Amino acid sequence: MEKVALYLHIPFCQKKCPYCNFYSITRGFSEALYLSALRKEIAFWKEHFNPKIETFYAGGGTPSLLSPGFYETLFDILSKSFDFTPVELTLEANPESLDLEKLKTFRAIGFNRISLGVQSLTKKGLKFLERIHSVDKALKVIDWLVTANFENFSLDFIYDWKGQGLKTLEKELKLILSLKAPHLSFYEFTLEEGTPMQRLYKKKTWSSEKKVESLCRLIEDTLEGAGYERYEISNYAFSGKKCLHNLFYWKVKPYLGIGAGAVSRIDKYRWKNPENYSLYTSHLIKKGSPPFEILEIWNEKEWIKEYIFMGLRLKEGIKIVFLRKKGYSFSQNALKLLKSHELIEEEGGRIFLTFKGKLLHNRIVAFLWDNLEETRK
Ligand code: SF4
Repeated sequence: MEKVALYLHIPFCQKKCPYCNFYSITRGFSEALYLSALRKEIAFWKEHFNPKIETFYAGGGTPSLLSPGFYETLFDILSKSFDFTPVELTLEANPESLDLEKLKTFRAIGFNRISLGVQSLTKKGLKFLERIHSVDKALKVIDWLVTANFENFSLDFIYDWKGQGLKTLEKELKLILSLKAPHLSFYEFTLEEGTPMQRLYKKKTWSSEKKVESLCRLIEDTLEGAGYERYEISNYAFSGKKCLHNLFYWKVKPYLGIGAGAVSRIDKYRWKNPENYSLYTSHLIKKGSPPFEILEIWNEKEWIKEYIFMGLRLKEGIKIVFLRKKGYSFSQNALKLLKSHELIEEEGGRIFLTFKGKLLHNRIVAFLWDNLEETRK
């Protein structure tokens, strides 16, 4: 039986953040209707294959906006449909939608990991990002996570928001360390296409590459100095606390996505449900099948390219022997050039990015793709 990561997209938010390009709506949705549609989607997949669900991740949107009862019913449907005994069940949450009782109930129905969207622990940062929670509320919720018995949780942050300098970040990092979160994510602020912030600032940037590098350096040095491992470009964890679900994506393992806007990748297929709540629910209720669209059908070379792209996000990098076994290698000149610029290192049969290389991940991957040679011709 194939081991699969199950992703559930909850496309609902209390308020749309002006920098966010994830699919979510703030009005006109119903828990009951969404659950009916999901029930049908699960029944559809049950007829087509029989996965063993290794991890479950409710992402969004704001999954913590929904009631614990919604998930309790969903887990019941999943247990009756699949081999549903995940070792990790993560709920993405935002501070404004939580109180202690709700957290305790989420824990009691089976969630064992919370990924909390803190984004900033400064007033200035939260104001710039137009988040609706306060620093105090975020700190209170982090306290409650411990009270509610969530031994495993992650805090999400955004860095390089407009106005953040090294001193502000240094202070914030001190506070973050005092919270002893088992897992931390740090994402660089980006002006995403089609968002209100992108329209406001156009292509203007407020930080030079040098500044981003120094912010990133400060984050890495501070967190690694405190015992965190930077196991992925944006993710840090204490020993044994890596996100098992996301490792499925980074290691190009199969995942099934359910819900409006969810993406799946199994074997050579990648498909996506429409980013449209009404279309998703009405299609499932009327026809009993999800209205997905096939995004890609990979051949082996495309799979290898994805392995390189994803694998180089990880500290452990990519295995050269594995590439060779599949009939691929990089031109020696290309590797030499990257090494001479201190962008990659090679050790124990693996290639991985250096600190400098991580800042240029996309460009290095594109360069390696251009220098990928087939050895089996
Ligand atoms: S709460 Fe999260 S998903 Fe919702 S709009 Fe804000 S950033 Fe996007």
